[in-house]
Amino acid sequence: MDLVFRARRTVTAAGEVARSIGVADGKIVAIEPYDAEMDADRVIDLDDDVVLLPGLVDTHVHVNDPGRSEWEGFETATRAAAAGGVTTLVDMPLNSIPPTVDVESLAVKRKTAEGKVHIDVGFWGGAVPGNLGDLRGLHDAGVFGFKCFLLHSGVDEFPPLGAQELEDALRAVRGFGAQMIVHAENSDAIEHAPAAQGAQYEKFLRSRPRGAENVAIAQVIELARWTGARVHILHLSSSDALPMIATARRDGVALTVETCPHYLCFTAEEIPEGATEFKCCPPIREAENREALWQGLADGLIDCVVSDHSPCTPELKRLDIGDFGVAWGGIASLQLGLPAIWTEARKRGFALTDVVRWMAERPAAQVGMRRKGHIALGYDADFCVFAPDEGFVVDAGKLRHRNPVSAYHGRTLSGVVRGTWLRGAEVTGEEPAGTLLRRGMC
Ligand SMILES: [Zn+2]
Repeated sequence: MDLVFRARRTVTAAGEVARSIGVADGKIVAIEPYDAEMDADRVIDLDDDVVLLPGLVDTHVHVNDPGRSEWEGFETATRAAAAGGVTTLVDMPLNSIPPTVDVESLAVKRKTAEGKVHIDVGFWGGAVPGNLGDLRGLHDAGVFGFKCFLLHSGVDEFPPLGAQELEDALRAVRGFGAQMIVHAENSDAIEHAPAAQGAQYEKFLRSRPRGAENVAIAQVIELARWTGARVHILHLSSSDALPMIATARRDGVALTVETCPHYLCFTAEEIPEGATEFKCCPPIREAENREALWQGLADGLIDCVVSDHSPCTPELKRLDIGDFGVAWGGIASLQLGLPAIWTEARKRGFALTDVVRWMAERPAAQVGMRRKGHIALGYDADFCVFAPDEGFVVDAGKLRHRNPVSAYHGRTLSGVVRGTWLRGAEVTGEEPAGTLLRRGMC
């Protein structure tokens, strides 16, 4: 074997246990009792204050490259991911130019990423008006599914689908077994809501009401029911939608749901005036909503916790004037998801095994990755060495994504990522050793 990790605390299918994990050719080839005799070129004895976790899988990341590489890029994003214990990410089809809406634009994106990624990277395709005929080609080229919007996406080159277009796209993707992932906010509901301008967070919150999410999610559920297509609700913020999600699941609708660290960590009540680093869509809501989302995780109604890392330049965040109406909506958190979630999860009595389920196992399953997200035989030797009891204060200037803005700046978090390993090699941030993934081949 090339490598053996000996750890008193390892998160496997058996829970948190003492194990020795053997690695050869980048794969996990042995899982033995802690004291087992194992022959390897290198043996790493982990200290008792760290836990060996599978590398996290973040299926919701906006790398924005090519086209908006001043916002983020493949080198910076994947370095930040690795520093946060993430070993696989799936890049969103929008904010890059061109957006990933046909085979040619996917090829452009892959070429941009080639040789620059420090972790493994896959790609989502986009479903936009007029590209129904491109979806099958993108699927065959290896995208993990298709993203669509039901309202303006924030960038003009990625327009939303109308109700009939969504139904047509769902029938198309169902035909070849792909999934549709949906930004579920209803355009009419938002148009009728009060405007967001100004520095007061409360006004911004009223401009993106829960009702806009609730209506959109109800529509998506019914379309999934009619068409039989597999759908995934992105970044759930409105806890009002949980009962209808439960009903749809009970009825056998093929529905999965994610939420993000910012909805589980922050509350609307505590966001300071003008603090546009907290602006995202759908918005961070009230404390009582946050607790209901945690209950949704406990109940298994929410499957995944993924970052929705969506950074931009400080200028576009309009930190100078602090106007929520004009600032770019998106929170940069790729490097912080694990400690952010662990800090809040442990307060509520959850274990690291729960966090691993939400942030590694279920996201990998959602995109059909069969060698990611678990410490198990035959899986890729992707690991995060995590010190759960060590704390730190977030300094946005020291994070590795491109622009030093983060809603977590100044926050004290529990849990430090001591090291990240990709296919049996430690990720140092120097030589990019990640690969570009295709659906069905990872
Ligand atoms: Zn997003």
